[in-house]
Amino acid sequence: MILKNREKSRELLMIESLNNRMKLSGKDKTHFYNLKKGFEGEVLFDRYIVEFVKCDCLVINDLLLQVNQTTFQIDSLMIISDCLIVFEVKNFEGDHYYEAESDKLYTNSRDVEIVNPLGQLMRAETLLRKLLQNNGFTLPIKSTIVFVNPAFTLYQAPMNKPFVFPTQITQLLTQLDSKPSRMTNKHKILADKLLSLDLLDSPFKQIPEYEYDHLKKGITCAVCSSFSLVVEGQSCVCLSCDHKESVTSAVLRSVGEFRLLFPERKVTTMAIYDWCGGVVESRKRIQRILDTNLKMVGKFRWASFE
Ligand SMILES: [Zn+2]
Repeated sequence: MILKNREKSRELLMIESLNNRMKLSGKDKTHFYNLKKGFEGEVLFDRYIVEFVKCDCLVINDLLLQVNQTTFQIDSLMIISDCLIVFEVKNFEGDHYYEAESDKLYTNSRDVEIVNPLGQLMRAETLLRKLLQNNGFTLPIKSTIVFVNPAFTLYQAPMNKPFVFPTQITQLLTQLDSKPSRMTNKHKILADKLLSLDLLDSPFKQIPEYEYDHLKKGITCAVCSSFSLVVEGQSCVCLSCDHKESVTSAVLRSVGEFRLLFPERKVTTMAIYDWCGGVVESRKRIQRILDTNLKMVGKFRWASFE
């Protein structure tokens, strides 16, 4: 049973929106690409779990925890009868090679060293163990790095490391699934404890600097991010991909983006009208959408929405 579903992090949502509305530097673009790719890999792994793991177990996705002032993140945590399994998911693509003497990982094409995920995994395992101890739990922990991208190859891969390659994922999960497992109250209490300790939003974000005036205004398509939207009756239609969305939902989505990027600004009819770049031509219509769907604070000209 999945106790916590995966969602895009605040950081990814912010950069995604900024990428649509301004020109990112090369460094920011790479960071955005890596975050997006990482997220897609995790979503892919989640699908494997849903498909192949039917046994009685608990799965918590994307946990951000802290122990002794040290923060660590777990991509996917599975609780089964006799242990906890930490999955570190990697969506690396293309040829890589492993250097056993130094325990380092390189891309084959450019000999660029990549941070070895083993270090990350061991750190997470150690810190999780500490956290369990501090809270009086004693279940053993196993951990695995799952390379999910079918186009990933690791030359000179050591056999004694906890690596699972794309061709082995199904086998790993089927094996896990075949072990008898039964969740007891103790497991549920542990899961609840971990969920209650989840920090949810990472304090370490790498967001480019941005200003309201420099961002492109308009409503972006929910599917292809294009700004070419036109209002036709009750719908917003994308001229690039034909996607249709109700005007209400498109405006509320834009409000969400506005809030995410400018939490200090008030959500007013004028502010949202400007942010939507005139796609919805009537202010009255924006006002009606805000009125119906958000809670109003203040009155008349000073009205804003929460
Ligand atoms: Zn579109």
